[in-house]
Amino acid sequence: MPTENDGIMIVLSSPSGAGKTTLVNLLSKKNNFEISISHTTRRPRANEIENQDYYFVDENKFKRLIKNQEFLEYAKVFDNYYGTTRTPVIDKLNKGKNVLFDIDWQGADQIKNKRLDYKLITFFILPPSKEVLFERLSNRDMKDKLIAEERMKQFERDVLHWINYDYVVINENLEKCYTKIFNLIQAEIINGSKDYDKDFIRQHVEKLTS
Ligand code: 5GP
Repeated sequence: MPTENDGIMIVLSSPSGAGKTTLVNLLSKKNNFEISISHTTRRPRANEIENQDYYFVDENKFKRLIKNQEFLEYAKVFDNYYGTTRTPVIDKLNKGKNVLFDIDWQGADQIKNKRLDYKLITFFILPPSKEVLFERLSNRDMKDKLIAEERMKQFERDVLHWINYDYVVINENLEKCYTKIFNLIQAEIINGSKDYDKDFIRQHVEKLTS
């Protein structure tokens, strides 16, 4: 049974290129914060470590996990499946650990709709401008430029989900963005006042999508 000493769930989502993974890694360095490790059918990238960045599995194994109802949430993102298994998350929360989820808006929606007895705070991270995002997504050769353009189109669709999150934070400066998220988490935990201006965010999203 959940108690007051349980950890809380903290979701960070963002369109590709907003710097979310770096933020999750920074937050996980804090005492008592742990990252939820997802399963994915995506192939590992050169710098990724099995069982640390992801549990890399094939589609058959992933579908077995779906069938056995092991996922707290799962979704298809681009062309691959991604999902969070329930048991490790609940174990961490019951031990008082705060669990960080680096998942997309589909997963965030599913966790929200589960209405678990654990506190949940959701963050959506945005880039400072379309120009900066394009720069972050681009590389010099043409192939990567095409991928960047494709991701920009995806961005315009993904950004519309900002409205379903508790907080939207702009990642202009990594340190400042991290501090803002951490302060909002602390304020939520102690029920303190929150430094958050939703109208400013709405205007920012309008600029990003105009
Ligand atoms: P990447 O392939 O770049 O690591 O991740 C692609 C997208 O999938 C990111 O937006 C990431 O947040 C999302 N993602 C990673 N793990 C999960 C998961 O377990 N569930 C869901 N719904 N999305 C995930």
